[in-house]
Amino acid sequence: MPFSEDVKFDRFINMLGNPQCECLEAGHGHAGRCSNPVVYSNSGRRGHGGWEAHHLVPDKEGSSDTIENCRIYCWPCHEMTLQNDR
Ligand SMILES: [Zn+2]
Ligand SMILES: [Zn+2]
Repeated sequence: MPFSEDVKFDRFINMLGNPQCECLEAGHGHAGRCSNPVVYSNSGRRGHGGWEAHHLVPDKEGSSDTIENCRIYCWPCHEMTLQNDR
């Protein structure tokens, strides 16, 4: 299941005034946390500030759509996770 808008919004609010990509995945070309800036209104879009909500534990492994399992990924990281799924 996709995350609800409420969960995504709450995750964003947790980062206060400095929302950044939370991706920690090795192999994306960023050392440690990605920290690309993201903009809430650019949800689901590519380009500057674009981002998507990512399941820390994948959907298919029976994860829940809770804020604990939600990570905000910038669009480039989101696309890389999709490619890794193939
Ligand atoms: Zn990123
Ligand atoms: Zn990444």
